[in-house]
Parts: sequence; C-alpha cells; structure tokens
Amino acid sequence: SLPFNPHVASLPAYNAGMNIAAARAASGRHDIARLASNENPDGCSPAVMAALASSAFEPWRYADPACSALRAALGERLRIEPSRIVVGNGSEEMIAAISRALLVPGTSVATVVPSFGLHEIEPLAAGASVVKVPMSASLGFDLDALEQAIAAGPRVVFLSSPWNPVGPGLDSQALERLVSAVRPGTLFVLDEAYFEFADPDAPDGIEVLRESGIAHVVLRTFSKAYGLAGLRVGYAVCSDHEVARVIAAAKTPFNVNAAAQLAAIAALEDEAWMKASVARIRAERLRVAAALEKLGLRLAPSQTNFLFFDCGGDSSALAASLLQEGIIVKAWREKGYECFLRATIGSPAENDRLIQALAQLVPAK
Ligand code: PMP
Repeated sequence: SLPFNPHVASLPAYNAGMNIAAARAASGRHDIARLASNENPDGCSPAVMAALASSAFEPWRYADPACSALRAALGERLRIEPSRIVVGNGSEEMIAAISRALLVPGTSVATVVPSFGLHEIEPLAAGASVVKVPMSASLGFDLDALEQAIAAGPRVVFLSSPWNPVGPGLDSQALERLVSAVRPGTLFVLDEAYFEFADPDAPDGIEVLRESGIAHVVLRTFSKAYGLAGLRVGYAVCSDHEVARVIAAAKTPFNVNAAAQLAAIAALEDEAWMKASVARIRAERLRVAAALEKLGLRLAPSQTNFLFFDCGGDSSALAASLLQEGIIVKAWREKGYECFLRATIGSPAENDRLIQALAQLVPAK
C-alpha cells in the first residue's frame, strides 16, 4: 500500500542460484557441487589470505572511499591513468552506478538475450526500456541485429564478452564493427567479467576501446579468475575523466570494504596464481565439453569458466533432478530459452559428478 517507485517494485527477482540448504535437503548430501555462480573452484591466491591476516587489515577503520592504492596498482598494470578507474563493490555495483548516472524514464538500453540479469534489472530500476537482441541460431552473437540496435542510439549498450550466460567472445573484427555503430550520446559498456578465460587471440577491450574514441566503460572483476567473489571487488575503466567522475558520484561513498581492497591488491600482485588457475579451468572446460558432447548435448562455444547447453527438454526439470544429486546449476526460464542450462566448471571431482549425473538423466540420442 506504500507508493513505491513502480520501476523498482515491479523488478523481477535476481536468480542467484545459491540455495545450498535446499540442495542439502533435496540430496541428503553435505558436499554440494556449486556450479551455478561461476566461482573459482581453486579458491584464491594464498597471498590474499596472508594479506587478510596481516596487520595492514584494520577492520575498525573506514576503508579508503577512493580505493587509491588499488586504483594505482590497476593503473600501473593496465597502463591507464587511475583517474579513469572507478572501483565497485563487485562490478555489479558499477552496472548499477552506470544506470543511475545515465538512465531516466524515457531512455533506452540495448543488450542481448539471454543476458546477465543485471544488464536488464538495473536499467529497468532506473525506468529505462530495454531492447534485447536474441542469440543467433548457432548460439552466438547476432552481429547484424546488434549493429542495428546500437546504431538506433540507445543511451547505454550493455554487452558482455565473453558472453555470460552463453560463452562465446567477440573477436576483434566483430568488436570493431559494433564499436563503429556507436553514435554520439550512447555509452558503450563492455563487460569483461570473464576476460582472463578468453582465447589468447581475443581482443583486449580496454585497448580496442581506447583506440575507438567512443564514450565507453570496460568492466572487469576479481570475482572470477582471481577467486574473490565473496569479497566483492570489480572496476570500471572509463573512456575519460568525466565519465569516471559521474559514475563515481553514483556509487555509495564507502563502497569497497577494507578487506576487499587489501585482497584485490594482493591478488593482482600474484598474477602467477591466477594464470595457473585459469589454465587448469580451461583444460577442465575442454574435458567437460567433450564429455557432454558425447552425451549428445548441443553446447555453445565457451571462452569462459562455464558451459551453456541445450539439454533437449525442460532445463528447470533437469536442474531439479541435478539438485537431488547435490549439484546446483542454473536453468534458463526466459521464454524461448527454457531448454538451456548453464554449468560452471568446478573442481575435477565436481565436474565428474556433473558428467555422471547428466549421463543418467539425459535420454540417449
Ligand atoms: N558481469 C557479468 C557478465 C557477470 O557474469 C557477473 C557475475 N556473475 C558480474 C558482472 C558481476 O560480478 P561481480 O559483481 O561479482 O564483480
């Protein structure tokens, strides 16, 4: 009965795939394979744990609201001025801040379907309308349709590459083509949450967009390859200081906590741990993909730490059966995509459990 903001009150709930208690109840097992959230099965660098145990961690102090030390470290690593970087409480917060900074009722956003939930939820919360370009028949980007949607001049474009939940990445040529369709007045947001898992010849969005001259933001995160999902650190690399200033104005002041700032710096310094983990995960991804293809499942190409596939029936029913085995995956519910399921690459033992369960549950082709 309260006069809620109607844009917020009517939001769909974010499907977070975290229900460990439900998985334990359904399976009677304690060791749940959590394959719904694209976390790192290797954990994180031991240097992160050491930083959190050190005297540098002062939980009684407010953390630096500007994340100066982390931005300096990122600036050096990425060879960009720290003043163009804004750090968020997860890259999630940067999606919210971008929406808050640019979107009002009457504006529009272009994105894809299926998409990362927040690329739609945050614009809707701001009262914007969302145009969604469907995945192509070959489970990839529909470049013609995307080019058209971008050239129509939405206020913001949200695209993830590599693409969550599908898996492919834009190659240099495709990225450049989309970038040249961007008109003045549009902010192009390239969400590279899975950048570290991409093929070696994949474009570096920060470099491609720096050359482009368009207004843009590249999003990266410590949640995936660096294994810091629980600490919440992501960042926005902005085309210029003015974009960075307004996005920073749209975030909460003490958004990134003290543990997260220390941990991210330690993680960044231990690049070797991250690279070794990514190599293990990519090798596992190839192994799991081959096993699922053998079961007759149709997989999208993946440059990420997950696989997206057509399970040949109702994916929600299959996810419920997997839950009985103590395996949490994410089923797509959007109209037209109800046969698709996304499974994170977990530890080798978890992946074996997934393969074995699917071999039992998926009818032979
Ligand atoms: N963007 C994409 C494409 C994602 O898949 C995710 C997490 N699943 C995020 C952003 C948010 O990541 P975080 O807030 O943990 O940095």
